[in-house]
Amino acid sequence: MGVQKNYIGGEWVDGAAERDNINPSDLSDVVGTYAHADAAAVASAVEAARAAAPAWNRSTPQQRYDALEFVGNEIMARREELGRLLSREEGKTLPEGIGEATRAAQIFKFFAGEALRIQGEKLQSVRPGIDVEITREPVGIVGIITPWNFPIAIPAWKIAPALAYGNCVVFKPADLVPGCAWAIAEILSRSGLPAGAFNLVMGRGSVVGEAILTNPAIGAVSFTGSVDTGKHVAATCAARLAKVQLEMGGKNPMVVLDDADLGVAVGAAVNSAFFSTGQRCTASSRLIVTEGIHDRFVEAMVERIKTLKVDDALAAGTEIGPVVDESQLAQDMKYLEIGKGEGAKLAVGGERLNRGKEGFYLQPALFTETTNDMRINREEIFGPVASVIRVKGYDEALAVANDTSFGLSAGIATTSLKYASDFKRNAEAGMVMVNLPTAGVDYHVPFGGRKGSSYGPREQGRYAAEFYTVVKTAYTQP
Ligand code: NAD
Repeated sequence: MGVQKNYIGGEWVDGAAERDNINPSDLSDVVGTYAHADAAAVASAVEAARAAAPAWNRSTPQQRYDALEFVGNEIMARREELGRLLSREEGKTLPEGIGEATRAAQIFKFFAGEALRIQGEKLQSVRPGIDVEITREPVGIVGIITPWNFPIAIPAWKIAPALAYGNCVVFKPADLVPGCAWAIAEILSRSGLPAGAFNLVMGRGSVVGEAILTNPAIGAVSFTGSVDTGKHVAATCAARLAKVQLEMGGKNPMVVLDDADLGVAVGAAVNSAFFSTGQRCTASSRLIVTEGIHDRFVEAMVERIKTLKVDDALAAGTEIGPVVDESQLAQDMKYLEIGKGEGAKLAVGGERLNRGKEGFYLQPALFTETTNDMRINREEIFGPVASVIRVKGYDEALAVANDTSFGLSAGIATTSLKYASDFKRNAEAGMVMVNLPTAGVDYHVPFGGRKGSSYGPREQGRYAAEFYTVVKTAYTQP
């Protein structure tokens, strides 16, 4: 296959270095070799975007629609192939990979439509005979920096609105998952965009990411990743007054009340905590359970966890794929030790597993007898590790759910309208789920959190316009 190159100014460009993309289900499988850019490559990508900006910023809604619809249609047509690539490079199961590829296609098609619906307002001035118009214009050039855990959906939900609202893009994917990013770039390269409107620069955060953050021509940076990197992104962008949007970690609570349907609660909790190997920012790692249902819930969870099929992401019937890489596995194992050291009881799981091929397999783990002040309940582990926290009743459950520095997603399992309504109103989270997993969201509505989970305007749905445009107010005396 050769080395997959960066895409800059409409050309495929060699990197300063290269890196193998390894399949976490089978460490002997090299998915591909991808070029690594350096700071000079970022500078030339920004130059290309600057050259393309006057034309693309003023492109018609039809041109934007056509490009985005082309990308959405092609991803949809190739969703099985791209889903397979995703599962091979990241380790989520094949159905999850195909589902994510499908979602990326839907996002491109949604924003194709949004390009046709960019709205302004016209008001009368408070002064006689003057018109006031409020319009949305592109920011100009947008830097996009993404994490490894949603290799196609997160790039899609940033690139599609950036282009729909007329911005040029410099995109840096996580270095663990360049395959899906490169595939999107290759499709975009045939979509009719002018050269330079979209650029792909793969490589390290400390090199390529940093060069994006500090380039004065980049007017806005959209970032998804960890809290520490996010804070650095925000500080660097603020220092030069660039717009910034951050989506970061979570320690999402899922409350289970005495009146819950046990099957619904266990189904939602297992999905929230362990699907996609627990590597979702919206995963629930704190299961907050009232005492009347606690023992039955724990027993049913343990039984279900024992049956979860952990295996090669591409194998039929696998429910949980491998952890993404060695350092994430080491982090998961470290927190398993921390939990035991803090006095939590490891009810099930936590062992590294051997499968036919060498990979990063971990048996999903459930801690019980935990308290909310333990490190395992305060810090994001980002693996298939969850804890049960026993509480007396709803009021304590809500207080514990909100006692966290994060605020992305919060779930409740209950048959009570009263408690469901109260939780929707009072959970300190950007997204609230009733009788549903904390993860798994629609593509046409806003996504994001509060407190340490998010910063800046919301992503997705029509709310994406807030970040990817700037507002102009024009006064006219005819
Ligand atoms: P990370 O912070 O390590 O990396 C994210 C991206 O930032 C990568 O592309 C990385 O190369 C880049 N980066 C690293 N250092 C940089 C620097 N100095 N300057 C600029 N860019 C830099 O995160 P990760 O490990 O890839 O992803 C996992 C994290 O992402 C978890 O915390 C998870 O909760 C979070 N996440 C959040 C959401 C959300 O929407 N809230 C979604 C998915 C993942």
